[in-house]
Amino acid sequence: MLIVTEEVCKKVIDRQSAFNSVEAVFGAMAKGDAYNFPVIREAIGYQDALYGFKSGFDKAGLTLGLKSGGYWPNNLKQGLTNHQSTIFLFNPDTGQLDALVGGNYLTAVRTAASSSVSIAHLARKDAKVLGMVGAGHQSAFQLRAAIEQRDFEKVVAWNFHPDMLPALGKVANECGLDFVAMEREQLGATADVIITITSAHEALLMKDWIKPGTHIAAMGTDTKGKQELDPELVQAATMFTDEIAQSITIGETQHAIAQNLIAKKDITPIGDVINGAHQGRSTESEITIFDGTGVGLQDLAVASVAAKLAKEKNLGVEVEL
Ligand code: NAD
Repeated sequence: MLIVTEEVCKKVIDRQSAFNSVEAVFGAMAKGDAYNFPVIREAIGYQDALYGFKSGFDKAGLTLGLKSGGYWPNNLKQGLTNHQSTIFLFNPDTGQLDALVGGNYLTAVRTAASSSVSIAHLARKDAKVLGMVGAGHQSAFQLRAAIEQRDFEKVVAWNFHPDMLPALGKVANECGLDFVAMEREQLGATADVIITITSAHEALLMKDWIKPGTHIAAMGTDTKGKQELDPELVQAATMFTDEIAQSITIGETQHAIAQNLIAKKDITPIGDVINGAHQGRSTESEITIFDGTGVGLQDLAVASVAAKLAKEKNLGVEVEL
């Protein structure tokens, strides 16, 4: 069994390999070649932590495993990231544990790859202004991956805690982009592509604030009760997601579904666009939304590449169980 540490993951997985792995697994999911098992996510009644499992099997890529971990809100006080996870990869022929892979960095790059895949396939080609709603741990990964997909000239941003914005501004400036903090309504009127990546539990972007032709990657809502978008915005937009079952239960569409504003049939898996079975954006003026809920197969896809490369480069640690 191979142990692949966080540091090794950072060495072997870059944004392009994460993008390729995530795009391929979304395509495989839409073809029915790969499927996720039901998600377990529980408040454990200790340290205010949320703990769970995301697992799945990719029959095309022969990747079987799970990501275990969750959210420990008190970690920051100890200098640790709030999200903690570990990925277990099993041999699909024998059930033996093949690899134990650090999941923290991989979660951030696979989540950034997910919104970035949506921008590549759904945003207008002439998008120039990137809007960021959220400035937490994931936001810098999101920004760096997004700007590789279009010829962005400027980043506009809003965050619930304004003191967190300068750190994101520094990342934008490092990437050669101007950075302007603004209120949400103005952001909606300015941005061509918007990424939402917050832990909000109420709508942050209202339907009337978003200009025609915008693409929104809604990435923060991954649990029942969380919310970032006005359900009427979800109703008005053309909706895409990583996985419909997750989108309607723990993703952004849970609210529009509960209010009967949309039905399951109104949501398209992004894999259909990747596979050419759905055209994606059909007009320059339509608003597209990608509800990125985060599926276990994304984690397994990047982890299996990390394990393969760590083995090839002799960077992992082999142990007998
Ligand atoms: P973080 O704790 O580092 O940052 C939280 C962000 O949410 C900050 O920008 C903070 O200012 C903002 N925020 C906090 N309370 C808010 C409120 N009431 N209203 C609006 N904004 C508020 O977290 P992170 O690691 O950056 O993750 C951000 C979100 O993304 C979390 O909800 C997390 O669960 C989610 N996430 C989703 C995926 C996925 O695959 N979809 C993957 C990882 C994380």
